[in-house]
Amino acid sequence: MTATSLRTSPSPSATGGRGSYWITTFGCQMNKADSERMAGILESMGYREAQAELEADLVLYNTCTIRDNAEQKVYSYLGRQAQRKRVNPNLTLVVAGCVAQQEGESLLRRVPELDLVMGPQHANRLDVLLAQVEQGQQVVATEEHHILEDITTARRDSSICGWVNVIYGCNERCTYCVVPSVRGKEQSRLPEAIKLEMEGLAAQGFKEITLLGQNIDAYGRDLPGITPEGRRQHTLTDLLQFVHDVEGLERIRFATSHPRYFTERLIDACADLPKVCEHFHIPFQSGDDEVLKAMARGYTVDRYRRIIDRIRERMPDASISADVIVAFPGETDAQYHRTLDLIEEIGFDQVNTAAYSPRPNTPAADWPNQLSEEVKVERLREINALVERVARQRSARYAGRSEQVLVEGINPKDPEQVMGRTRTNRLTFFPAARAGGGQWQAGDLVEVRIEEVRAFSLSGTAQP
Ligand code: SF4
Repeated sequence: MTATSLRTSPSPSATGGRGSYWITTFGCQMNKADSERMAGILESMGYREAQAELEADLVLYNTCTIRDNAEQKVYSYLGRQAQRKRVNPNLTLVVAGCVAQQEGESLLRRVPELDLVMGPQHANRLDVLLAQVEQGQQVVATEEHHILEDITTARRDSSICGWVNVIYGCNERCTYCVVPSVRGKEQSRLPEAIKLEMEGLAAQGFKEITLLGQNIDAYGRDLPGITPEGRRQHTLTDLLQFVHDVEGLERIRFATSHPRYFTERLIDACADLPKVCEHFHIPFQSGDDEVLKAMARGYTVDRYRRIIDRIRERMPDASISADVIVAFPGETDAQYHRTLDLIEEIGFDQVNTAAYSPRPNTPAADWPNQLSEEVKVERLREINALVERVARQRSARYAGRSEQVLVEGINPKDPEQVMGRTRTNRLTFFPAARAGGGQWQAGDLVEVRIEEVRAFSLSGTAQP
């Protein structure tokens, strides 16, 4: 949809450089990866990154609507920029991501100063949409769209660790989740395109790649092809085996997994492929089968336990992280305590916790048995304390061990230190100075003797 914008004069493009841009990203890794690609598109159009948000000629908010507080955040930012736009009509204001998809045209009524509202499926069409804006139109791009392979080079935040999308969207129907309605149906990229992107990154010096998907275990189910044994030709396991030989890459990770589709074949492949790191992010959401059924998650607690047991059979030291929702509609105290028990039993290295937040276009939002804010706050406080205690217990196993750490850069809080991650994804800090002189650099793989353990990070000394 298009309408006339508030612009008074042609955009800077008519006068050479296109000016500066600023991108603020809310939410998940998928959004971070989309923002890197949109920054790459803006730079290929001649924009340069601004020093500060309030100095930029083009401001883009890549938004998240997974919970109400995430959605509300963008409106306070937009208020500030709308004021700027009233003074400077040539400022370009863009809202991208999941709030844009969810709200669409109604965002223009709420913030008439906006130039472009674009859903996540349109991220790599930013240049086409901005061309319409530069013609003086107000543009809303939220229609279902097949995501074409992206030729622009993403402007990545790291030069060592990169995100690579392998599947967009989600076909599941978890009753609390807004993702399917804002990111659309599953669209898997072809393995050859994924490998080509990974080879390009390795050639630039990237050492670690994280393969991304909202439900990455669904990778390939929308691609044609059945093997002689009768199974899908394209699965996450096949993809890992196909990209494993990319030269120059040291580590491969993937997220986010779904217990419903997590297979033994995948676990065996992860154990047998040296570059695949021993860290698994597998949201369980609740420790109670009745709640899981109400969430339409499609698995039981027992199935979840069996997955973790099998992982630990093949990779005893693997780290397990997860997501959990407390105070889901109707969740009784007993059901909530089964969630606490499961966290204790599994012994997670990390758990991202959230209190249930009713979302538009999701079934559970209309259910009568919503729980009070007090219950949400209390359960969140209690579960966060438990998660920290269990993570501290898990971290204790690193004490005195030597861990391989991939250096990602200087510790922003202490320039005498560098920081990086173990293969099990534990953040680790150690002195930047090398024994023989010089400094450890981003991309170095260093054996670090762990001397100090905390709940979610480690410190140590590089081994000679
Ligand atoms: S699997 Fe469920 S929770 Fe995850 S993105 Fe899809 S619908 Fe949402």
